[in-house]
Amino acid sequence: MDPESIHAETLRRYSEHVNPGLAKLMNFAGFGVEVRAEGCHMWDQDGRKYLDCLGGYGVFSLGHRHPKVVEAVKRALDTMPLSGKTFFNAAQGELAEKLAQVSPDGLEFTFFSNSGAEACEAALKFARAATRRPGIVSTEDSYHGKTMGGLSATGRKKYRDPFEPLVPGASFVPFGDIAAMEAAIGPETGCFIVEVVQGEGGVHISPPGYLQAARRACDRHGALLIVDEVQTGLGRTGKMFGCEHEGIKPDVMTLAKALGGGVVPIGATMGTADVWDRVFGQNPLIHTSTFGGNPLACTAGLAALEVVESEGLVERAAETGRFMVESLRDFQQSCDLIKEVRGLGLLIGVEFAIDEVGELVIAQLVKRGMVAAYTLNNPRVIRIEPPLIISREDAAWACATFKEAVQETADLLATLA
Ligand SMILES: *Cc1c(COP(=O)(O)O)cnc(C)c1O
Repeated sequence: MDPESIHAETLRRYSEHVNPGLAKLMNFAGFGVEVRAEGCHMWDQDGRKYLDCLGGYGVFSLGHRHPKVVEAVKRALDTMPLSGKTFFNAAQGELAEKLAQVSPDGLEFTFFSNSGAEACEAALKFARAATRRPGIVSTEDSYHGKTMGGLSATGRKKYRDPFEPLVPGASFVPFGDIAAMEAAIGPETGCFIVEVVQGEGGVHISPPGYLQAARRACDRHGALLIVDEVQTGLGRTGKMFGCEHEGIKPDVMTLAKALGGGVVPIGATMGTADVWDRVFGQNPLIHTSTFGGNPLACTAGLAALEVVESEGLVERAAETGRFMVESLRDFQQSCDLIKEVRGLGLLIGVEFAIDEVGELVIAQLVKRGMVAAYTLNNPRVIRIEPPLIISREDAAWACATFKEAVQETADLLATLA
């Protein structure tokens, strides 16, 4: 099929069989069909090349199709991609052991699933079973997935409203406000669930001391501390896990996005021996997943962890992130349109002073061959979340391109004014 037909046919099929509103939005934004991807780049149906500074919202920390992950997954494909579930599955055991080794002390056990929402769903269920308390304390603007449970703990009204009533017992406190969090956690609280950096919420970084205060408040009342590292895990923030910035030990930690090495979907819910005993002690089948822990995904996870270590991606995320944030802050000095540049490692958010700018800048970026994250739910913030393997040259190009795109948008707005 010629490039034009690929685009037209895909657009038509989306409109007729996937999601008409979404099709319209994506077409309006000028997005093509992604036909190939490798490393930090992707190509559309016309063969146009883009630097991927969205990185699948954190999925592509190793870039697209990292050769070591692809090779390992191909081997699993040729031996046993899905297990029969009755016998032991070696890959699941290996990945669980490896995760216990690299994660904060105390997180010895892992339940595997297939997505971030499932990982959070399990975490919330574990808190309920372990404490027998209904209360879920979460934060405003948080994101924990769109399953019924995950959504119940998600502090985004526009996602929640059509689905009320949700799981009862959830309350929301302003993110980063220690006093509000301490006041909300009490004897009825089963868990406090929190992200280290709110990604979907617009790149809000937890202030120093916040997670430590949460740890103390949960300990005081016997509530579980669930740290949602679905987006921040595996080096994204310049530490292997974001909660290491505060040196805290969660009771439960969720992982997904980057864990599959950008090749196979996987979700993981980690927990302490004490939590596992309270949840699975009476009935080891109390929570299960048919596809969870499949050899294909676990093999990808093992390969991904090896690459994160062997390529020093944690350190690279910290260094490249610092470089990009500094470069963008320099530019901010001379640009009234930008209100704030925030970042921890390679999870960077640029907040504009007015709503309309984000969408225009994204269009300018796409025109120049760069993809970044932007959502209608968060029109003021553009997220820059490139693969952790991004070279210094590509990072510099991304910053320069971003500046050009904002500059052209500013010129455009000036002519309209
Ligand atoms: C993406 C995300 C989720 C949900 O993951 P899905 O795989 O989309 O279900 C949950 N929590 C956080 C922090 C996320 O970034």
